Amino acid sequence: MHEASLASRFVQATLEEAAACGAGRVRAAGARIGELHGVIDRHLAEFYEAMTRGTLAEGARLVIERVAATSVCPECGSLVRGRPHFRRCPECGRAGLETVTGLEMELAWIEVE
Ligand SMILES: [Zn+2]
Repeated sequence: MHEASLASRFVQATLEEAAACGAGRVRAAGARIGELHGVIDRHLAEFYEAMTRGTLAEGARLVIERVAATSVCPECGSLVRGRPHFRRCPECGRAGLETVTGLEMELAWIEVE
């Protein structure tokens, strides 16, 4: 789906981070991605590899950390694991749980030399 544009964002963030710390080369980068985004890791890694060619991050490994989804009930405050869609609070039965985690999309770290 949108892996190409995501990869482009991660490449840009990687290069900005590398420049900020004066790195000669980037060996690896960690992407923290919430499971609600439905990103296909392999596609993202392939786009990342292609887009880093000719840059400081050429050959860098993209390590994808998946963040599990949790949501909270606005009525009773119960924390519910898993995707919030179409679910009701197991405690009080209220519909419309609010997402707490699972929508992350950020460059978590880079490893440089
Ligand atoms: Zn509830």
